[in-house]
Amino acid sequence: MKLDDLPPLRDVITRHDLGAKKAFGQHFLLDLNLTAKIARLAGDMSRDQAIEVGPGPGGLTRAILSEGAASLLAVEKDGRFLDALSEINAASGGRLTIEQADALEVDETSLLTGPGDKVILSNLPYNVGTQLLIKWLQAEPIWWRRAVLMFQREVADRVVAQPGDKAYGRLAVIAQSRCSAHLALKIPARAFTPPPKVESAVVVLDPLPETQQFKDVIALERITASAFGQRRKTLRRSLAQAAGQASTSADALLEIAGIDPGARAEVIDIAGFQTLAMAWRRAYQADRP
Ligand code: SAM
Repeated sequence: MKLDDLPPLRDVITRHDLGAKKAFGQHFLLDLNLTAKIARLAGDMSRDQAIEVGPGPGGLTRAILSEGAASLLAVEKDGRFLDALSEINAASGGRLTIEQADALEVDETSLLTGPGDKVILSNLPYNVGTQLLIKWLQAEPIWWRRAVLMFQREVADRVVAQPGDKAYGRLAVIAQSRCSAHLALKIPARAFTPPPKVESAVVVLDPLPETQQFKDVIALERITASAFGQRRKTLRRSLAQAAGQASTSADALLEIAGIDPGARAEVIDIAGFQTLAMAWRRAYQADRP
């Protein structure tokens, strides 16, 4: 059997009794035109090792393989899908490897040891989507050439937000310090089975050239947690917490960074947060000779 000859996903779900489980954030995409559209956002995958988190019954999985990925590693926590996924593997000429595991705990680089660039595609489970993104952004070095990720719309907006946007915050600063990110597709709730309560969107992330990737993500996290944790306050006040951790003052950090202490976090651009993070790191290290 070839991929195009596989039975419709609805039949697969019925035959294997794969009703969606809320606890695993299961909302399936059964429209193969839509999954093809998402898979194509990864570009030419013919020499890539692709990885998909949460294949479920395999709609996006089929599309990634049909679009020509050289190989695909699918990480799925829920063992009920294994039989359906094995059928896809057979129809793809053995290009699919299935790993039953929690994607938060998987070390992708030890599983993706073959040749070729690595590309991540996923209709992410909503309950762990942000955590997985942070994990992939923190990896040093970033091991993937592109990530095509579906989030709930509100999270997608937070990833791509610009200074001054309502959604601008920690996630935008951290994501855009390591990658370029754009919102590629908006997907209505009715496209899923069962439909979630909110709209979704696909974000495409491309790592910045190595020399432009901001390296000290931990310092950036400390600074942005403090600054956006109290986003209505001025930076002089909201940064007091992070400054205290480095035994310095918010005013001192802001002066080094050349940032107005009366400004609020929402107007500071990514470069401004990076300068603050570097100043924080120097103060933190000076305090621990
Ligand atoms: N890819 C399928 C689709 O588009 O129809 C299913 C997407 S569904 C939103 C999320 C999938 O992630 C489910 O199959 C669920 O079992 C799986 N999942 C949830 N938490 C997971 C985790 N921590 N690690 C791996 N897979 C997980």
